[in-house]
Amino acid sequence: MEYKYIKNIKIWYAIILFLLYMLICFIMPTIINGEFNNKNTDVKNENELVFNNKIKLLLKESNTVVEIDLEDYIKGVLIGEMPVTYEIEALKAQAVVARTYTLFKIRNATKHEFDADMCDDINCCQAYKTKEYALASWDDSGENEKWAKLESAVTSTSGETITYNGELINAFFHANSGGKTENIKYLWSKAEVPYLISVDGKEKEFRQETKTFSKEEFKNLINSLVHNYNNNSTITILDYTESGRVNTLNIDGIIIEASTLRNLTGIKSTNFKIEESGDAILFHTVGYGHGVGMSQDGANQMALEGNDYISIIKHYYTGVEVQKNIY
Ligand SMILES: [Zn+2]
Repeated sequence: MEYKYIKNIKIWYAIILFLLYMLICFIMPTIINGEFNNKNTDVKNENELVFNNKIKLLLKESNTVVEIDLEDYIKGVLIGEMPVTYEIEALKAQAVVARTYTLFKIRNATKHEFDADMCDDINCCQAYKTKEYALASWDDSGENEKWAKLESAVTSTSGETITYNGELINAFFHANSGGKTENIKYLWSKAEVPYLISVDGKEKEFRQETKTFSKEEFKNLINSLVHNYNNNSTITILDYTESGRVNTLNIDGIIIEASTLRNLTGIKSTNFKIEESGDAILFHTVGYGHGVGMSQDGANQMALEGNDYISIIKHYYTGVEVQKNIY
């Protein structure tokens, strides 16, 4: 009996040692690794949420922030930025351009107020409109087909962005170049950006406009820069950029950049001629927008001529690639 008891103790001792051995060698590492793996998964998901999924959008009119799926946001940008009647390959190019522009801005620009990534002000970020707005503004029997077309431009290019040397590009775009796109060095960057050089705008028609100001109106618009402008003041164009746009002007002895004048006066382009007639100053502009990057009218014309969205993108952004899911 005593011997059997001792033998039982030995057996139990062996079982406990065996269980401890199993716990230390197999179960603990599994638990620890499991925790690490869970942490790694969480981090990955966090990154995906920032760059791959939701963005915080500031709606300027209501001064509120909405959180929105990136791909749904791109549909809203398309509604606001390109007519749905444009060719499908032009709409697809615009979707990839808008997605790239958005992700570049999220990564490189400072946040808006309320911690928002983007806003719906075209002078700051890019336009954004809701599906409800689109259907109401189209308001015709073809509205469902139009929505399906716009939606397919986004879903068929889902996750695609433009890169230069593997990095996201700053994908500027504009409505109509008036002949040649602008090299960005004449605008904000003041330095060469290899993929934003001047290329053929490809438009079939150039948008032309004449904007007329009385000298009093003009004086008020430029007052912040040219303080003594009067009826006898002179405006002289000093030089042009390589695309043929006005670069700098001398107004009453003050040298200002044409892009600054465009911002102050709201003229459509820096490709202009000036006409002074009595009390009036007339600006005859060709093209619409800053002229950098993709021309939307040119993209539509290229699509009409049989080019796909990748060819369109590669034309306007020199030396780039279109890549999927790299951000
Ligand atoms: Zn903004």
